[in-house]
Amino acid sequence: MIDLHLHTNVSDGCDEPGALVRACRAAGLSVISVTDHDTTAGWDEAAAAAAVAGIEFIPGVEITAVLDDRDVHVLGYFPSRRAPLLEDFLEDQRADRIRRVREMVGRLAALGMPLDLASVLQDAASHPRRTLGRPQIADAMIARGYVAHRNDAFDAYLGHGRPAFVARRGATPEEVIDLITASGGLASLAHPGLLDLDEIIPALIVAGLPAIEVFHPEHDPETVWRYRRLTAASRLIVTGGSDFHGATSGHHDCTLGRIVLPREDFEAFRDRLFAC
Ligand code: ZN
Ligand code: FE
Ligand code: FE
Repeated sequence: MIDLHLHTNVSDGCDEPGALVRACRAAGLSVISVTDHDTTAGWDEAAAAAAVAGIEFIPGVEITAVLDDRDVHVLGYFPSRRAPLLEDFLEDQRADRIRRVREMVGRLAALGMPLDLASVLQDAASHPRRTLGRPQIADAMIARGYVAHRNDAFDAYLGHGRPAFVARRGATPEEVIDLITASGGLASLAHPGLLDLDEIIPALIVAGLPAIEVFHPEHDPETVWRYRRLTAASRLIVTGGSDFHGATSGHHDCTLGRIVLPREDFEAFRDRLFAC
């Protein structure tokens, strides 16, 4: 079984990369990609653990692009762990995340919910390439008793248009696709069914988008069918995975092995990735 969308604790997942790989092995997966948000920090540990576990590891990343103040997630897959242009770009992405966390913590303080900024930022400092974001702010809000769950924090304060929301300054989806391609990788539009922006897809295809994530826990059978038709009509590569963030993360359906990429789609993906 194949899963090309997994998170570890170098971004907002719960498990260390090695532990995640062992859980994948136990769930019967044979090919995985670790796709943390805006960082490759989990690659080396995951690759080493995958070699021990005897499963194939594909280096991946999930980059947050911005379009009209909205986040558009673009997955990038690479034929090897050397993707030179990528690292500088991701460093800028993470720097903007820290700026944003500072501003959002400031807004929460103005709303009567002070947080210890240093301890929120310390999480990022604990690993040089760890990504920081709203989930960590939400966790700090839970710890202070301001909200009960991450979702409550997003719905009431941190989500788009909510009082503590601060817009990202990021690259456009087209720029991210270009960067991934120029780094020797293959870009895939992540979970388009969650975006509700199908109208942007034709322009992204024209801009060189080679793949779409068709299989995702938030895609119901009708949505899978819709993107399946689109990828067939536009001759795009199909990707998919669980978007696993940890068994206790509360994200999606957290069972490894339930959402997987069919073998024939993976074969086409792999042919394209290694032809890059
Ligand atoms: Zn995430
Ligand atoms: Fe995503
Ligand atoms: Fe994800």
